[in-house]
Amino acid sequence: MSVRGYGEDTWPRPKSCRVIGVANQKGGVGKTTTTVNLAASLAMHGQRVMVVDLDPQGNASTALGMEREQDSRSIYHCLVEDAGLRDLARPVPDIPNLWCVPATIDLAGAEIELVSLVAREARLKRAFAAYDSSELDYILIDCPPSLGLLTVNAMVAAEEVLIPIQCEYYALEGLGQLLRNVDLVKSHLNPTLDISTIVLTMYDGRTRLASQVADEVRQHFGDLVLKTLVPRSVRVSEAPSYGQSVMTYDPGSTGAVAYMEAAREIAYRAEAGAVVQ
Ligand code: ADP
Ligand code: MG
Repeated sequence: MSVRGYGEDTWPRPKSCRVIGVANQKGGVGKTTTTVNLAASLAMHGQRVMVVDLDPQGNASTALGMEREQDSRSIYHCLVEDAGLRDLARPVPDIPNLWCVPATIDLAGAEIELVSLVAREARLKRAFAAYDSSELDYILIDCPPSLGLLTVNAMVAAEEVLIPIQCEYYALEGLGQLLRNVDLVKSHLNPTLDISTIVLTMYDGRTRLASQVADEVRQHFGDLVLKTLVPRSVRVSEAPSYGQSVMTYDPGSTGAVAYMEAAREIAYRAEAGAVVQ
């Protein structure tokens, strides 16, 4: 572990770049929000971070202030046409040390175009291998709400899966399928893959249901679940429409404070050796 010498509160850097896929085939559980705000928090504490937007909706790209140019090149060109990540990564406005490889709607076709390509499950992994990741501390991959080839590419390229779970009814539904997919990828394509982190999102402390769901998830996943609960917060949902993370949009809001704490847990867990070797 080494600490970068700038900033008031600088967190320890991992020995090598941690590649984390943020996945849950359910839509609307907070994947994109979690990816964007964890990435911003880490970058604001001395980490060099790249977000890879792997969802054709491009919500992470929008939230990180990427302009939608007509002919803009995106992660699609990396997956399907072998463009280098270095050419695709763009700096995120106002947050030093944070880059985004954007997604555009082109990516919607990639799921099908990839099928005929050699090593179709490992396109993203190959792109990472060609990138000098010693320049980065974290790569966060925002997955689409499905378990198709794009999510499989993320799981083959990552060492860690982070699962956001929304504290609502049916929260655990479909989770078995996700866990089976992680196991399948681990046994056939990427032996180093593990679920490292569960984040409870959109927690509403006023409802008994939310705390019941949180308890149930903790019983099931134990220490994988971050202590920090991310509360439901209007500021979190407003930020993307300003092309910002909540970390810059309203850093004092409850949502921003929670994502900062969640990111801190992630950074320090690795140091303790609890999750990452
Ligand atoms: P996913 O990427 O899993 O589809 P999103 O991150 O896009 O989920 O979140 C779904 C919706 O919920 C978005 O409109 C987002 O702004 C909102 N949202 C996410 N987290 C919070 C939160 N903590 N408080 C309030 N709204 C949230
Ligand atoms: Mg999303």
